[in-house]
Amino acid sequence: MPLQPTDKIWMDGELVAWEDAKVHVLTHSLHYGCGVFEGIRAYATSRGPAVFRLGDHITRLFNSAKIFMIDIPFTYDEIVDATKTTVRVNGLVSCYIRPIVYLGYGEMGLNPLPCPVNVSIAVWPWGTYLGDEGVEHGVRMKISSWKRHDPNVMPPAAKGTGMYINSSMAKLEALKSGYDEAILLSPQGYVSECTGENIFVVRDGVIITPPVSAGALEGITQDSVRTIANDHGFGYREDNLLRSDLYTAQEAFLSGTAAEIVPIRSVDDREIGEPGPVTRKIQEVFQAAVRGEVDRYKNWNDYVDG
Ligand code: PMP
Repeated sequence: MPLQPTDKIWMDGELVAWEDAKVHVLTHSLHYGCGVFEGIRAYATSRGPAVFRLGDHITRLFNSAKIFMIDIPFTYDEIVDATKTTVRVNGLVSCYIRPIVYLGYGEMGLNPLPCPVNVSIAVWPWGTYLGDEGVEHGVRMKISSWKRHDPNVMPPAAKGTGMYINSSMAKLEALKSGYDEAILLSPQGYVSECTGENIFVVRDGVIITPPVSAGALEGITQDSVRTIANDHGFGYREDNLLRSDLYTAQEAFLSGTAAEIVPIRSVDDREIGEPGPVTRKIQEVFQAAVRGEVDRYKNWNDYVDG
């Protein structure tokens, strides 16, 4: 789906027109992929738009930057405020939010330290990432021939721009082979995650997801799944999974900010089938929580208008 332009993009402290939010071709991050970003969503609620777990996303942005020794020239509070301002000035009731911190124009070469650090926040309307059909009936997954990064090649805990070449290659392979999305294994052969989502299987009522040590990003939606699972009496644990655990899962699903909660209907053509009761319950509670309809999770809703 093509990007739907909105009014303003926040760039280094200023709101600029969407069409003027441009960077120089010699921007350092464009050449070497050294930048960090976040993917966040704001949802329509009865009290206006609310950003979902904004503080957790901005904390992860700062942690990603710390890993790459990128010194963000704004405080945590300034980025939180700028995010809400950008949603507000664009008058959107719900949207996807993309803050990015990148090394700008001024120096070239592999030493990132002398480069200026630029920050930008854009918002736009974005529907279901993996399609309405996938949300309803589940997506068809392929295990990629590309492995997830070894943590000593690329740090999976950082949401670094250049790291997503790996995800794009896996996504490309899955789509070209007729599947909806890819699953990546760790260099050791354990299930890691999807191209932009964490993965879960359900076995005898227990939800199992790979640990960070298998190369997955610590997902904020994944953490919401953990909380919802604990509160609704489902077992939940992190454990290494083999690809055969996916093939024989009673239920499986994925989670991410863009994708939200999406059931998995098959892996490498091994049918798991229509979404099961655990997946449905997690999906239902999550959708209510993001819309500010669950009192217990109201600290997850950061209202744009106070
Ligand atoms: N893994 C990867 C590689 C991702 O890009 C994302 C999306 N940020 C996730 C998992 C899910 O994280 P979250 O739930 O915080 O969006």
